[in-house]
Amino acid sequence: MSQNCLFCKIIEGSIPSTKVYEDDEFLAFKDINPVAPVHILLIPKHHIVSMQHVTPDDASWLGKMMALVPKIAAESGCRPGPEGGYRLVINNGQDGGQEIDHLHLHIIGGPRPWKNTA
Ligand code: 5GP
Ligand code: ZN
Repeated sequence: MSQNCLFCKIIEGSIPSTKVYEDDEFLAFKDINPVAPVHILLIPKHHIVSMQHVTPDDASWLGKMMALVPKIAAESGCRPGPEGGYRLVINNGQDGGQEIDHLHLHIIGGPRPWKNTA
């Protein structure tokens, strides 16, 4: 838990969110300002700022987080098969356009057209 982190407060429950998946290590919830019909944020429950802070020691939980994507995407309305699918985006640091300093994976999908930004 980082005191002034919005996403840590969402994990803690002091700021509300629409949760779509939760386990001991990860939380997925709807983005408050969706850029597409499906826009989910998947985050680790421990505070880490961005991929810029990742080391080889993080490989295990990062792998687990990525492996949750197909289930969360499917259950959130991303369509299966080649005609369906979704984008995965992680913004990192100021040059990467990151606004919230708690690593998060955007899962962006749903029927097109929608703009290619996140
Ligand atoms: P970033 O630009 O850091 O990659 O993305 C931050 C995302 O968090 C944005 O898409 C923004 O809409 C979302 N966001 C910001 N504040 C809140 C909030 O209070 N609740 C939820 N659910 N999403 C938020
Ligand atoms: Zn945090």
